[in-house]
This record gives sequence, structure tokens and C-alpha cells, in this order.
Amino acid sequence: MGKRRRERGWVTLAWLLNLSGLVGIAIVLVAYWVLQPVLAAAHGEPAQPGANLTATSTPFSGLYYLPTVTRNPRSTEIVVQTPTPFVLANGQRGTVIGYSVSARPIEVYTFGQGEKHRMIVAGIHGGYEWNTIALADELITYIAENPQVIPSDVTLYILRNLNPDGDARDHGYDGRVNDHGVDLNRNFPTNWAAEWNRDGCWDYRPTTAGTAPASEPETRALVAFLQSHKIEALISYHSAALGIFPGGEPWDQDSVRFAEAIHEVAPYPFPPIDLGCKFSGTLADYAVSRGAVAVDMELANHKDTDFKINLKVLDVLLKFEP
Ligand SMILES: [Zn+2]
Repeated sequence: MGKRRRERGWVTLAWLLNLSGLVGIAIVLVAYWVLQPVLAAAHGEPAQPGANLTATSTPFSGLYYLPTVTRNPRSTEIVVQTPTPFVLANGQRGTVIGYSVSARPIEVYTFGQGEKHRMIVAGIHGGYEWNTIALADELITYIAENPQVIPSDVTLYILRNLNPDGDARDHGYDGRVNDHGVDLNRNFPTNWAAEWNRDGCWDYRPTTAGTAPASEPETRALVAFLQSHKIEALISYHSAALGIFPGGEPWDQDSVRFAEAIHEVAPYPFPPIDLGCKFSGTLADYAVSRGAVAVDMELANHKDTDFKINLKVLDVLLKFEP
């Protein structure tokens, strides 16, 4: 009798130890789950999340020292930066043709499906010329609501912001270049020059032409687009005030005719105001080398979109016979 009693005592003790062990493990697990976001946050964020990442790169989960093999969905992730996205009321988005230095998307909106391809590029000088991006967004919205303005034989492409990093950085002098400090309108492969005489040129901040023709991802995205699409006429919007600059060196004669046709409906100066700057590596020169008529065109100032004027300019772009 006494022996069996002692045996039962041992069995009970064994079960108690077993249970307390299980409870202990459960407490550790619960505590880990609850404290995890705190631990993750304590490691902080890198100074510039998303900088120098391409959109396809996978965030390095090891940064947070989480003891898990699979990335924990509750951890703080590196987020690729995007400016406030422009979205049409109907939800339509542009086609992403590439990414900026800091992985912001570069989008093209397409209207119509005719065989004559025309293009508008805005924001090549980023936030310094932010009103060109605002104009592009107004045009995109207007055409989406009035698709009949596009003739049946025309396809129109609008690239609303070629320099989203500059636009995100500053709406002033500091917003002109991309995140490598490059003036994108000096980085195109036609008439490219590493350095240029700054007399008469924009010189409020240090800028470069890039390390080589089309060294910048923004430039390469548009170059690839122009190589795969036969654009007949192109307007590259700038601000401010100097007028309409035909592409080509010397000026391409068909582009001069295009500039004159625009000047008939818009008050922008043509011939443009000559401050003595000699332009190298411009988008308009490159577009001409691809067989397009092209102009660099400046809005009247740094804040207005001149929307009504540029509706007339749009009509010239859509109907001009190169
Ligand atoms: Zn400009």
C-alpha cells in the first residue's frame, strides 16, 4: 500500500514538472510575439530607405537581426520611395518604362491607337520646373475625359515626369538635377559633352552631364522608349520664359517649321531668347537624331501651367505634318 502511494506521488510530480515546462515555453513564445515589433523598431531605419535600390531588389531582411528564416511580415521593411502618385479618376495608371536613380517609377500615358506617334515629355528638370509636370497631369486628365481630341490616326504618349527624384527633392534650384547631380537635358547621347562653357547657361547650382552619354537611368529609360517607338513629333516642356528651341545642331529645318507652327498659337518666343548658352546632350537633339521633329519649349514662368495655351499647342502636336 505505502509503496504504491509513493509511486503515485512520483507520477504526479513528474506530470507537474512536465506541465510547468510547457507553460514556461508558452510564456516565452507569447512574449516573443508581443515584443517583436518593438525589437524591430529599436534597430531603426537606414538613413535613406530605397536609395540606390532598383525596384526589383529584395530588401535585406538581415538588417533587422530577426531570428527567422522567412521575412517576418510584422518587421519594418525598406519601402521603395514613390512621390504622391498621380492617378486618374478612373484609376488608370501610366506604363512604367523605367526607374530613377532612387527607384521612383517613370510613367508614360498612352492615348489613341493611330499609326502617327507623337510625344510630350515633362519634368526633365524635376522640381525646378514642377509646373511642367502639373501641366502634363492636366493634359492627361483632360484627354482621358475627352478622348475624341485624339485623331483616329494618332497615338499620343505623355511622359509626365522624367525626373521624379528632382521633383521630390525640391521645387526650386535644388530640384533641377537627378539624384546623381546630373542635368538630364545634358545627358542624351547626341552632341553629348562632359563639360560646357557656363556663360549664359543655367548656373545656380553645380550640375554635370553625367559620366558618359546616357549614363543615367532616367535617360536610358527614355532612350529605350524612343528606340522602340517611332515618334514623329515631340515636345519637351521646360520653364521658364526663354521660348521655343528647335532640336538639332544646327537647328533641324522641319523642327523649325514645327516651332513656328507652335508659335502661331502660343505666345512663347520664337526665335527663342539667346543668352549665349550652347546646349549639349539635349533630349530634343536626340529625338531629331531618331527622325522626329522636336522642340524644347519653356512655359511663361515657374508656377503657371498655361493650360489653355497648351491645349492649342497639343492640337498642333497632334496634327502637324512633319
Ligand atoms: Zn528646363
